[in-house]
Amino acid sequence: MVTLSVDNTRCQGHARCLAFAPEVFDFDDEGYAFVPEDKQIWDELPEDVKQAVANCPERAIVVSESSPS
Ligand code: SF4
Repeated sequence: MVTLSVDNTRCQGHARCLAFAPEVFDFDDEGYAFVPEDKQIWDELPEDVKQAVANCPERAIVVSESSPS
């Protein structure tokens, strides 16, 4: 299982994540990215989300993998 989130202490709000995966990332009123609750847990990340993670210049997108218990 994979958990996806944005570290809002690192995010600079330049929206590259949104360009790669607009269906997954959203922006708050202050212009910083976040992952809505219903998009936080995945069996496997879609390719466009992997691209967003790889292309975030601040390394602000956090991917945590855990094996099913
Ligand atoms: S690309 Fe990274 S730093 Fe930029 S808005 Fe998205 S999460 Fe934030």
